[in-house]
Amino acid sequence: MGDPVRVTLLGTGTSTGIPVIGCDCRVCQSRDPRDVRTRCSALVEANGVSILIDAGPDFRSQALREGLTHIDAVLITHHHFDHVVGLDDLRPFFFQNRAPIPCFAPPETEEILRRKFDYIFEDRSYPGVPNLSLVRLGESPFTVESRGSDSGVTVTPIPARHGSTPVYGYRVGDFAYLTDTNHIPPASMDLLDGVQVLVLDALRRAPHATHFSLDEAVAVSREVGARETWFVHMTHSVLHAEEDAELPAGVKLAYDGLKLGI
Ligand SMILES: [Zn+2]
Ligand SMILES: [Zn+2]
Repeated sequence: MGDPVRVTLLGTGTSTGIPVIGCDCRVCQSRDPRDVRTRCSALVEANGVSILIDAGPDFRSQALREGLTHIDAVLITHHHFDHVVGLDDLRPFFFQNRAPIPCFAPPETEEILRRKFDYIFEDRSYPGVPNLSLVRLGESPFTVESRGSDSGVTVTPIPARHGSTPVYGYRVGDFAYLTDTNHIPPASMDLLDGVQVLVLDALRRAPHATHFSLDEAVAVSREVGARETWFVHMTHSVLHAEEDAELPAGVKLAYDGLKLGI
């Protein structure tokens, strides 16, 4: 795949967002804009196709900030609300194009979304509900097509674990995105072979039951061997300037609005 892939990190924070409401810690009070982290989401653009990964509670403000005008598909990593509760805010994207936006999800997530968002995916009797079509993924690569032309992009799901919750990362060309995980099984590590730019969950210094710590994420990044690894989903125990300076070469903390080219 020689086609360039462009990535915009729309949000890079943990489930509460940073600053945390009511918190007066040094990170929540920091004046460094890189310490302001909205909920995790990314825009991936390749071959004329615009793909949104997750749509959390900050999706509307992220879309306005980045001037998003078009989305061809949504890839959902898992059903946690900090990754899906912005799905309703996708409505403006089919004011121009009435075709439904496909929303790709791992099997367990697809089932849960169908229940949690029954007014979108099942009932549909209320006028003006979002026009999304939920697609249950297997583990094989699939094609995401442009809604306006006949171009397409191949996406490879990367199955992983987030504690006991199954989660999918996604690979497009030599870019891969893996949020909310603390275990990538060997078969999925094989799928990351040759990735040049990796976005990876790294919650904080201290270990956690469902997310990689900074040290664990550094070890995974070494194993993958990507040219660049960018950490996301950090809590308010991570002061950007301080922790970023401690990371080894090729590994950096991401921040909202960061743009990557592959
Ligand atoms: Zn999350
Ligand atoms: Zn999660």
